Amino acid sequence: MSREQMKVRLAAATPGPWAASPYIVYGEQDDTERVRVTSQHDSPDYNTAEMVLPKDADLIAYAPTDLAKLHAALDAVEALHRPIQEDFITALPCIREECECENECPTEPLPVCRHCWGQLEQIDPYFGEQHHVSEVMWPCPTFTAIRDALGEDQ
Ligand SMILES: [Zn+2]
Ligand SMILES: [Zn+2]
Repeated sequence: MSREQMKVRLAAATPGPWAASPYIVYGEQDDTERVRVTSQHDSPDYNTAEMVLPKDADLIAYAPTDLAKLHAALDAVEALHRPIQEDFITALPCIREECECENECPTEPLPVCRHCWGQLEQIDPYFGEQHHVSEVMWPCPTFTAIRDALGEDQ
């Protein structure tokens, strides 16, 4: 399930805000209180859900705005954590400073996270010259955590 599919479903639904309707109806088979969820968009009585328990009505009613906020939050994080190519010295003699390159050590482009790499480079300007690039290699822990939680195959 991709987040793009979730966004398509959200966009296709009746626009929010939705609200749990104050009109209380009672179930046909029992006396349990049930309410409607209505959209205020087109007409005040447009039902998006009927005969739901009040506690479920709140979840349904807040779903469009809650989902939109969660997508915006994840979009902001994903805009920071994205892959870029950076040049790193990867040859072992060069890393160990046992080479005779005279500051002309060969570099290799590697995919790293733009944000994570930038943060570490600010802390240690020589970070890029060291061997420990695995901490910022793409995909970074932040991106991986989001992808794993959503169960996305990327
Ligand atoms: Zn990152
Ligand atoms: Zn070298």
